[in-house]
Amino acid sequence: MIPKSFVQYLLNRLDIVDVVERYVPLKKAGANFVACCPFHNEKSPSFTVSQSKQFYHCFGCGAHGTAIGFVMEHAGMGFVEAVEYLAKSVGVTVPQEASNTSQHKVAPDLYELMQSATRYYREQLKKNQRAIDYLKGRGLSGEVAARFGIGYSPDDWQNLKAAVPNYQDAGLVETGLVIEGEGGKRYDRFRDRIMFPIVNVRGQVIGFGGRILDKGEPKYLNSPETPLFEKGHELYGLYQAQKAIRARQQVIVVEGYMDVVALAQHGVEYAVATLGTATTPYHVQKLLRLSEQVVFCFDGDKAGQKAAWRALENALPQLVDGKRIGFLFLPEEHDPDTYIREFGTEAFEQLLDDSLPLSGYLLRELTAQVDLRTPEGRNILLQKAQPLLTAITAPTTALLLRKEVAALAGVTQAELEALYSIKPVAAPPRAAPPKAKRSTPSGLRTLLRCLVMRPVLARELPGDWQGEGNEGAAIAALADWLRESADETTSAAMIQHFQGTSYEVVFASAQGEVIQWGDDFDVQAEFVGVLRRMRLDVIESESAELLAKGLLSMSESERSRLAQLKDERRQLKEQVG
Ligand SMILES: [Zn+2]
Repeated sequence: MIPKSFVQYLLNRLDIVDVVERYVPLKKAGANFVACCPFHNEKSPSFTVSQSKQFYHCFGCGAHGTAIGFVMEHAGMGFVEAVEYLAKSVGVTVPQEASNTSQHKVAPDLYELMQSATRYYREQLKKNQRAIDYLKGRGLSGEVAARFGIGYSPDDWQNLKAAVPNYQDAGLVETGLVIEGEGGKRYDRFRDRIMFPIVNVRGQVIGFGGRILDKGEPKYLNSPETPLFEKGHELYGLYQAQKAIRARQQVIVVEGYMDVVALAQHGVEYAVATLGTATTPYHVQKLLRLSEQVVFCFDGDKAGQKAAWRALENALPQLVDGKRIGFLFLPEEHDPDTYIREFGTEAFEQLLDDSLPLSGYLLRELTAQVDLRTPEGRNILLQKAQPLLTAITAPTTALLLRKEVAALAGVTQAELEALYSIKPVAAPPRAAPPKAKRSTPSGLRTLLRCLVMRPVLARELPGDWQGEGNEGAAIAALADWLRESADETTSAAMIQHFQGTSYEVVFASAQGEVIQWGDDFDVQAEFVGVLRRMRLDVIESESAELLAKGLLSMSESERSRLAQLKDERRQLKEQVG
């Protein structure tokens, strides 16, 4: 585990402008830096980086965070990975908290073992004519084979003895390269297979996929789950495809590594594959962050249909309005590899453009085998649609699909929502509240903005401080957190701390509001001022409540309370001067 204080230390050492510029060229604009947002497609820059505040905010898509958050989002790294990468980039070592030592500790030498194995397999490929012929037969050039680091594991039990200094190294079993049988006898997991290294977004080999050359079972063999390799999180080919995906704002998800490599051979460089698992929600989320459009491409057979439906189910909770998910079913006898070899790149890209949108696929499957002319049939439709519709959180998509399903079932959208006990997506537009003064933010809002600028001010809040709603809760959480730590806390450290919590959204919107504030802005004065105004509001309303009773019917204690309030109000007003 990474100590919290280290995260803060690291954020102080980093400059977010340097970090972002490793990926996205920035332009100076006033006090800030701007660029066209790397997280959504746009023509004029709304992605803003503040050097003094050390956070970024996109006014187009709402992306926000610190240098650590940026690397996680942009390179698809996990938190620990991002911290390690950034620490290394400024030459500091990440200290480890002693607590959970056995769990999730990835020794760097495991990566080294994987690297040695990759090198070894690649050398073996050059020496084995049968393997070379196989790849040539599949239409692969040496260039593409090299780009994906493809190798060959010879037909022997202990090949890797030649690749590593010590075949008894525990790391070999831990990485899944070697299997320990009964009596401690060791042998290679991969024998006589074409080897596809599985690479993480940092370019490190974390696992292998091995394909058999001739007939035999299993046709594909993957590394098991190891400390380096989590199947549900990784996508084959993502490291190589990242650039093409961003440029095209499209990514294709195919079923196998051979498909990824074959597509790249034909210039379709924006394809990735899942690794012997169904598409997980994590995969979908990762891909939707990278591009505007995700197309799932499955074989036309039964297994392909099943995999596509699983992908749809896992995609529903991750849908983002405005981003497109498509489904492409190839003719039954084809996979992407055979299709592109037979018909060429243009024909394949045409299929991609014509892919079935998620909503179309969903409705097609729901209405298949249902007789909508009968009440029973429409009833079945409503039952089948319920778990799917309720899983969608993207408001516009949810609204449109509810309308479609309701229409098909012959009920109104409101009836459907009542039936499923779900909240209406589109509340009827309410008339603007009569005395809403949009120009002046509420006291809580102003307070929140001040605290985002300078979190330590939360220590000056009264101990019994309470606020209403999301903003109040977020401020209270901040005050609690500061009470626990003695450190000086920066905006960036605070944002990092609350990332992924229920307060993240509230703080993020305030960050967007303050990112343009100049550094000469007197936050302290604003903070004191707003606290005073809020206190005055409380005094006014409590006094008004007491006065409403009438002076004559007040108790002794109520009368003295009123006098006390009057005193306090006078003092507060005097302070304003
Ligand atoms: Zn954006």
